[in-house]
Amino acid sequence: MISQPKTIIDIRDVIKTFQVGEIKVHALRGVDLAIEEASFLAIMGPSGSGKSTLLNILGCLDRPTSGYYYLGGKNVAQMDDDTLSSIRGKRLGFIFQSYNLIAQLTVIENIKVPLIYQGVNLQDYEQKCIELAALVGLEDRLEHRPSQLSGGQQQRVAIARSLINDPLMILADEPTGNLDSKTGKEVLELIEKLHRQGKTIVMVTHDYEIAYRADRVIHMMDGRIDRDEIRK
Ligand code: ADP
Ligand code: MG
Repeated sequence: MISQPKTIIDIRDVIKTFQVGEIKVHALRGVDLAIEEASFLAIMGPSGSGKSTLLNILGCLDRPTSGYYYLGGKNVAQMDDDTLSSIRGKRLGFIFQSYNLIAQLTVIENIKVPLIYQGVNLQDYEQKCIELAALVGLEDRLEHRPSQLSGGQQQRVAIARSLINDPLMILADEPTGNLDSKTGKEVLELIEKLHRQGKTIVMVTHDYEIAYRADRVIHMMDGRIDRDEIRK
């Protein structure tokens, strides 16, 4: 028997409206999206179409104005900040365009950052951090600080950091956006490797070449999903 893919994300009728002074900005105008476990989804679309807003909601960094968001079967759409941050810390990993590393910390310390909010004993994770640094090819840079690393290396640290909690899903917003094309390709290959190892990946990009390495590409337009392409 072939087992059915499991849906880990299910969002329905998601609307996000920002109030800026007197003006309402309709960032998401009704989005429905189901994401299967272990899939690799790319989100494309012009600037301002709602990609980051959607990713932030998927990543529990923000809440929809209305609608449902089931993550692993639970409706998280209207949970309070503390609950959301606990879900983020335990179940989600993040990779940002600008890496978001802490300048004063070494590579190994940066990889540990998500654990700080978990109240675990950091000592217990030393070996895991070293293994993750090795996974991203930085085993000989453990004591370096971000300013002593190239952009590609900094993004590798961010990727290792995103994995420290064994997340259910990794969310990446333009992860190659600040990198030259060769380094960007290397970072993408690393993300693909995580996908092959069974991680669910959701990645925003405006680069077609990058998007079409994913299993599925959704195209955002004006706060809605305009097109949903299943590739593999
Ligand atoms: P994209 O990532 O596709 O470029 P965004 O999701 O960042 O688009 O933005 C969608 C729309 O929502 C834009 O019009 C943007 O200006 C607006 N927007 C995004 N975040 C905020 C915010 N925090 N406050 C007000 N407006 C916002
Ligand atoms: Mg954006």
